[in-house]
Amino acid sequence: MRKIHLISAIALALAGVSMATLAATPAAAPEAELATTQLPRTVVPSHYDVAVTPHADKMTFDGKVTVAVDVLKPTTSITLNALDMAFSSVKLTPTRLKIAIADPKVTVDAAAQTATFTFPQPIPAGSYTLAMTYSGKIGTQANGLFAIDYDTKAGKQRALYTQFENSDARRFIPSWDEPAYKATFDLTATVPSAQMAVSNMPVASRTDLGNGLTRVAFQPSPKMSTYLLFFGLGDFDRATEMSDGTEIGVITQKGLTGQADFALKSSAAVLREYNDYFGVPYPLPKLDNIASPGSSQFFSAMENWGAIYTFEYALLLDPKIATLRDRQNIFGTAAHEMAHQWFGDLVTMRWWDDLWLNEGFASWMAARTTEKLHPEWHTELDAVGTREGAMSRDAVATTHPVVQHVETVEQASQAFDSITYSKGEAVIRMLEAYVGPDTWRTGVRKYIKAHAYGNTVSDDLWREVQAAAGKPITRIAHDFTLQPGIPLIRVETSACSDGKTTLKLTQGEFTKDRPNKTPLKWQVPVIAQSLGGEPVRTVVDGSATLSVPGCGPVLVNAGQSGYYRTLYAPTQFAAIKADFARLAPIDQLGLMGDTWALGMAGLEPASGYLDLAQATPADADPQIWGDIAGGFSGLHAYYRGDKARQARFDAFALKQLQPVFARVGWEAKADEGDPTTNLRTQLIGVLADLGDTAVIQEAQRRYAALASDPKAIPAALRKTVFAVVARHADAATWDKLHAEAKAETTPLIKDQLYSLLAIAEDDALAQRALDMALTDEPGATNSARMIGIAAYQHPDMAFDFALAHRAQVDKLVDSSSSSRFYPALGSSSNDPAMIGKIKAYADAHIAKGSRRAADTVIANIEYRQMVRKERLPAIDAWLAKNGG
Ligand SMILES: [Zn+2]
Repeated sequence: MRKIHLISAIALALAGVSMATLAATPAAAPEAELATTQLPRTVVPSHYDVAVTPHADKMTFDGKVTVAVDVLKPTTSITLNALDMAFSSVKLTPTRLKIAIADPKVTVDAAAQTATFTFPQPIPAGSYTLAMTYSGKIGTQANGLFAIDYDTKAGKQRALYTQFENSDARRFIPSWDEPAYKATFDLTATVPSAQMAVSNMPVASRTDLGNGLTRVAFQPSPKMSTYLLFFGLGDFDRATEMSDGTEIGVITQKGLTGQADFALKSSAAVLREYNDYFGVPYPLPKLDNIASPGSSQFFSAMENWGAIYTFEYALLLDPKIATLRDRQNIFGTAAHEMAHQWFGDLVTMRWWDDLWLNEGFASWMAARTTEKLHPEWHTELDAVGTREGAMSRDAVATTHPVVQHVETVEQASQAFDSITYSKGEAVIRMLEAYVGPDTWRTGVRKYIKAHAYGNTVSDDLWREVQAAAGKPITRIAHDFTLQPGIPLIRVETSACSDGKTTLKLTQGEFTKDRPNKTPLKWQVPVIAQSLGGEPVRTVVDGSATLSVPGCGPVLVNAGQSGYYRTLYAPTQFAAIKADFARLAPIDQLGLMGDTWALGMAGLEPASGYLDLAQATPADADPQIWGDIAGGFSGLHAYYRGDKARQARFDAFALKQLQPVFARVGWEAKADEGDPTTNLRTQLIGVLADLGDTAVIQEAQRRYAALASDPKAIPAALRKTVFAVVARHADAATWDKLHAEAKAETTPLIKDQLYSLLAIAEDDALAQRALDMALTDEPGATNSARMIGIAAYQHPDMAFDFALAHRAQVDKLVDSSSSSRFYPALGSSSNDPAMIGKIKAYADAHIAKGSRRAADTVIANIEYRQMVRKERLPAIDAWLAKNGG
């Protein structure tokens, strides 16, 4: 699954960047290996025969499933997962035993999401078929089988899709809905003859039933987990391309396959790359990627085996609005979901404790593959941003280890966080750098081969990589995945002698909110390098002394593959700062990340980041300036509510960024590199945010000119210009945007316009957007996003509003996201009262074991208040001295 961060998606929107931002028998999974389960272990499924008939108009469906099961020991009851469904018949039939079994009594437990079938007599061990007839509901949010209603030029349309991860297959099929219960699936659907039905496997047969309905049977699936099953139905088109013998497909609403051409070509290239990397060819006959209008608060795409599901904004390129960032997001999303076809689908974590094996790996694989197949994008620098995202989360008290104990469905949902994804990715990057890329790949190939169609835990991977490496990595891997937190490496340098610099490295722990914490211990792989010298490697176990060839500044974590923070002694930092412009761009970024975090936490002067920004030449790598623009935007937000001090900071920030924007300009140059294209939209967004009137007026002028000149805003700038206009909208402009949103018939553009209505700075307009979100107008999956976007600038208003209308808002949020949605609305608040409000909400509405997301929002608000009180005065003093 490709997760989205609500707040980062909003920050991107505000910055004008993007709206996205078969084989083993059941006996092979013996009881003792099923470490965690919510179901009794007495009965194991091996095959499902499923027949469904959706009634899209009534938002219900009928289902019939026959499951081949093995009863491992005599039992009087069978319990499986089922949610929001009604059973009309349940029958157990022995495969070989010649006994008659009376129909069971059916008991449904809604809280446990189970159904229990109790038999009058004990059932002997053996093989059976369990046949169930039932009916279920079609939802409006992405859980289970759900409907998306959307506009087209020909009128309103409704399409159906499924979304099961982590635990919603049970809304579609009564099933053993846990990842370790792998089985094969035969799916049949009775559907309107004019529509296209899609599932994991190609269609095996079609039977015209003569009444406008067709029965579509799909080929049997490979052995897989329930959460990977997919079914889609609608007025679709499909385009295909062969790649390495596999039919790659994209499926879109009618007439839009052309907009999926980039995704199709990219998928074909990525498949060839993965077939080679994993050493096991993609095992299914086809791989579709299904584009869906709408959105979710939880995810942008899902890796159903052979039938990836992706929201349109992460798959289609509409020539009217597409940007380079969109292309990058589409490529990265497809590469992530395709990596799951091996890591997750072919080999699956045994339980949600090891979710990171899926998500950390798919994230790392996507990043690696993007760098390799699109070197012109220079996404290798993104590794630092990913690590910073993970560390920001990992440095507060509410963090958790990468491998974490999960018991409930709610906890499994909450496991889809930046620790699982981004820390997982960063730890893999570090370990790959430690053993070398070829060795790492050898380990991965052996792991995939050994566990194909099976389930694993993290140690299964470490075992293979360690065997390939011929040196111990398991302890390092355990240190970084079984305990939370971030190592801090303190660096002391002695004078240079004989052309060598000696470093003394000492390991502590970096935290944002527990300065007196006793540090945990890690074995930390460290790479150090003097400027232009050879890199030297060591593993710091508590402390280490390192001799590095060369004199002059020595950089620790050279190349930035390490997951730790580096704290230099002041003289060493000064020396590096003096040579900052000569560092490799990735090391400049890494140093800025450390300097920002250490400064805000009080371990270095808070103004260190501003020193580095000032030392950055205007012609530095565009991604460095992108980082600085982001940092300035962050500081601007810290000053929120204090206009005079904020204005002084803004003046300084504008003075740094305006010369850079003068070089980049409004108009794209033919020979500019891709990072410059991205920097343009980012700078326009941040400069407008900082109050650059020339930029705001130019955006408004272009928006107004659009009425008479369709070329007034190139597609690459459309989202950015519209975002600036919407942010600074007055009532008349807001009404105009609203009218455009209403009239728009392309879902991708329409969704974006409704989101923009929610980013107005003006309180009254934000209130109008909130009110509108509760109506049917924006579309069922847009409303929650509008509330979330309004909350970024108006957290107190949006949080209070959502709570006051909780019954209505609950219907607009995915069930898997609700324990996070409400607390997140308050997250950018500077009002200390918000902490009490979120606590009260959590006490009343969130189960005790599922409060981590809410507690993290509180920890971040507390941290921000500390920064405002303790650090901003140092920034003020620096500004006074260095001149705004
Ligand atoms: Zn994923």
